[in-house]
Amino acid sequence: MPPISARTVNHVVVVGGGSAGWLTAAIIAAEHGAGLRVTLLESPDVAPVGVGEGTWPSMRDTLSRIGVSESAFFRACDVSFKQGSRFNGWVDGSDNDYYFHPFVLPQGYGEVNLAAGWQRQHADIPFADLVSFQPHLCMHGKAPKQATTPEFAAVANYGYHLDAGKFGVFLREHCTGRLGVHHVLAHVDGINAHDNGDIASLQTRQHGALAGDLFVDCTGSQSLLLGKHYGVGLLSQRHVLFNDSALAVQIPYPAANTPIASQTISTAQDSGWIWDIGLPTRRGIGHVYSSAHTSDEQAELALRAYIARSGGPADIATPRKLSFQPGYRERFWHRNCVAIGQSAGFIEPLEASALAMVELAAAMLADGMPATRAGMEVAAARFNDAFTYRWERVIDFLKLHYVLSKRRDTAYWRDNCEPAALPARLRDLLTVWREQPPSRYDLYRIEEVFPSASYQYVLYGMGFVADYGNAMRHADRAERAAGYFREAATLTGRMLAALPSNRELLEHIQRHGMHTI
Ligand SMILES: Cc1cc2nc3c(=O)[nH]c(=O)nc-3n(C[C@H](O)[C@H](O)[C@H](O)COP(=O)(O)OP(=O)(O)OC[C@H]3O[C@@H](n4cnc5c(N)ncnc54)[C@H](O)[C@@H]3O)c2cc1C
Repeated sequence: MPPISARTVNHVVVVGGGSAGWLTAAIIAAEHGAGLRVTLLESPDVAPVGVGEGTWPSMRDTLSRIGVSESAFFRACDVSFKQGSRFNGWVDGSDNDYYFHPFVLPQGYGEVNLAAGWQRQHADIPFADLVSFQPHLCMHGKAPKQATTPEFAAVANYGYHLDAGKFGVFLREHCTGRLGVHHVLAHVDGINAHDNGDIASLQTRQHGALAGDLFVDCTGSQSLLLGKHYGVGLLSQRHVLFNDSALAVQIPYPAANTPIASQTISTAQDSGWIWDIGLPTRRGIGHVYSSAHTSDEQAELALRAYIARSGGPADIATPRKLSFQPGYRERFWHRNCVAIGQSAGFIEPLEASALAMVELAAAMLADGMPATRAGMEVAAARFNDAFTYRWERVIDFLKLHYVLSKRRDTAYWRDNCEPAALPARLRDLLTVWREQPPSRYDLYRIEEVFPSASYQYVLYGMGFVADYGNAMRHADRAERAAGYFREAATLTGRMLAALPSNRELLEHIQRHGMHTI
């Protein structure tokens, strides 16, 4: 037997058949083909969580990378387009309080200080509505592309809203049918270790021991390998982001031609917020809240009131209750075990970042797959550094939505503004951003989770008070910004005239599919 360090990595075993498991298996198998054996093992007794319905535009690259047809994906997974998020009631809770975080960058982004131009010339218009055409597409229910736009291409950048249960089945069929992933239905109830502490095999109830070289823990909140077996702890973030509970429900549209929203609508509540996602055949709605600030009963009443107010039926099914511990692991790759998905961490789905983090992790693992056990130490250190940084940035970005709110009407909103609940790095950045807008100098890694433009959208959407007048540079002259504002307005007019409605395009895709190139 060669020493363990010299062993080649021939067999990757992914444990867990939720979105994280299947996406990871697909990305590794598509990258390595027949050169690497990939097995996905899932318990027949533990169902996947199956509630993640919003993705980022990165999912287009991921699906294209693993070789699926976008038309087949739309048809199989009840998919609609997502062009960003609309936040209602977050600034002060009044009736006309809204802002957009669209996926398209502002016109002229990085060329000129748009925020300074906006402050000087158009402070009466919401920032995103002035600098980008995409909020207007959302407000008019427009699709982000035309019937003739090829698969995965966009007129306006987009991600997806989808049925998470159907997505799991779709990925499974693609993985096992096209990518050569071996699928084993078995419940893991023990772990067999090598002398050095590496995992040698998984002991299963149905099929005995299953050996492998690298094990990917996608067992969801159980974190069976990394958390339970290796005892790698969860760094709780409850002191920063309080939400730890959700009630989710699906409701029908009132009529066959009801418009389908092409953005996630997130409406602030007394002790949390409600997501509202439009799929082609139904809406998925959920209340995310802090159990320290409200009861399940109160949360359900707020959910029902929202549904009634937003045109839903008076009679709804009993909402499904989900609980989670906001936090992420002390590290994610330990020995020959890597955690991806909820086993690595979970924070409230305010910006739908969970699947995007899965995509990033699976891509980093697939691209940097060590050839031997000896290569794992360095790969693990790099992976742990990258994902600790990314989790911290997700937390900063989500907290930004809360800390700038002017709401003080409930303990939840007051507690959210306590200095002790503000991460130090975000506090420092807010000081910088009073004098200059967020830029690539604040977020300097190659693959940042959220680009500086996203920070600008949320910052100015939330009514952040900054004064860029004193720092006005020659390059920031207002007329330069004004040119880009005109450009955004011209594009808005053109696109509103040329793009079909979201529902029209979705129905067209069901009947005819999208163009392929
Ligand atoms: C309320 C809510 C809303 C969300 N909204 C979004 C969103 O809009 N966008 C987004 O990106 N994400 C969202 N998420 C997150 C997203 O749903 C999950 O992060 C994602 O589905 C990944 O889950 P997972 O695959 O890690 O875990 P799971 O889906 O829990 O899968 C765990 C798998 O492990 C297997 N398993 C467990 N124990 C064993 C065992 N002993 N032996 C063998 N197999 C085992 C199970 O069978 C299962 O297949 C949301 C989450 C919640 C709670």
